[in-house]
Amino acid sequence: MRIGCPKEIKPQEFRVGLTPHAAREVIAHGHEVVVEAGAGVGAGFADEDYVAQGARIATTAEEVFAGADLIIKVKEPQAAERKRLREGQVLFTYLHLAPDPEQARDLLDSGATCIAYETVTDAQGGLPLLAPMSEVAGKLAPQVGAWTLQKANGGRGVLLGGIPGVQPGRVVVIGGGVVGTQAARVAAGMGAEVLVLDRSLPRLRHLDEVFGRDFRTAHASAGVLAEAVAEADLVIGAVLIPGAAAPKLVSRAQLSTMKRGAAIVDVAIDQGGCFETSRATTHEHPIYEVDGVMHYCVANMPGAVARTSTLGLGNATLPFLLALADKGWQGALAADPHLRNGLNVHAGRIAHPAVAEALGLPL
Ligand code: NAD
Repeated sequence: MRIGCPKEIKPQEFRVGLTPHAAREVIAHGHEVVVEAGAGVGAGFADEDYVAQGARIATTAEEVFAGADLIIKVKEPQAAERKRLREGQVLFTYLHLAPDPEQARDLLDSGATCIAYETVTDAQGGLPLLAPMSEVAGKLAPQVGAWTLQKANGGRGVLLGGIPGVQPGRVVVIGGGVVGTQAARVAAGMGAEVLVLDRSLPRLRHLDEVFGRDFRTAHASAGVLAEAVAEADLVIGAVLIPGAAAPKLVSRAQLSTMKRGAAIVDVAIDQGGCFETSRATTHEHPIYEVDGVMHYCVANMPGAVARTSTLGLGNATLPFLLALADKGWQGALAADPHLRNGLNVHAGRIAHPAVAEALGLPL
């Protein structure tokens, strides 16, 4: 099979769908790999790195799309890329189709078979191709939160780790899933006093068993949450209700109870955010102030660390990519119901029930 990896063209996207080492494994399985010139540069991979592993470099995206049986990417295909997809071709990437009818229409028209990273599942009920990006965002959250707390950024000038004789900063993490766990671990590692709130008792039990010495946990009832937020220097929003918009857990009125210059990092902003005052920001202009509280709400946090994110995503996608290449998409999906859950579009029809429902289209 010929695997094509184009350069990402969505603005500010520096990740790449295939690393040189992943290319090597695909080639070792007897497949051909064609990478667009410069595709890996944003993540720190030169064209020569791919060539050294046996891949071929194509000068244009057209060339990559025209010859490939399977296209591997990171972001949903942009309009120009969608025009290049064709019947019989497989697309393996993040799609996030539910809120994007225009993309859905183009993919249906293309006749291509589109498998979305974000709906591939695992035996534990998790989303294995989303988890690495949640891990990245979680680990970044205290880092950007600490930066937001600095005076020059409008913060209250608190060093999260404190120093001998001066108390550390207080960090409250709302939601103790993948993002929240990583955020709490890093914040605790920085020396901050950390409290994780979640509504799930099994989740709280697990966190307490594993990390009980590093941070505290509490049930996210409205009263506990209100008190915790009022006392915090940094609040990290990390809740998720699968398939739904994030619940607004902190109202605008509650901001007035917070310390002036306190910081909010709303990681859940890609699902609308869990603070009433959150609105999506970019890496160029990441923070803004409301009622004296600094907000950091970047919707694609992993883009800031494109190299780590690319390597993490590549680790997770490689087994699925190898299965698709070795067995063909029909064989791979028949053999793995979790990969089957990734099928979003096939032969001009939506193939995923939740996506069909969200778009109001038939299955
Ligand atoms: P997850 O499912 O692993 O964890 C979510 C946690 O939230 C669960 O433990 C759940 O019990 C808890 N929760 C749900 N409702 C709650 C409530 N009302 N109060 C307290 N806790 C509640 O999800 P995740 O992978 O950690 O993702 C968290 C969020 O981060 C998602 O919205 C995800 O889309 C987002 N995310 C954003 C970026 C970014 O760049 N901004 C990157 C990755 C993930």
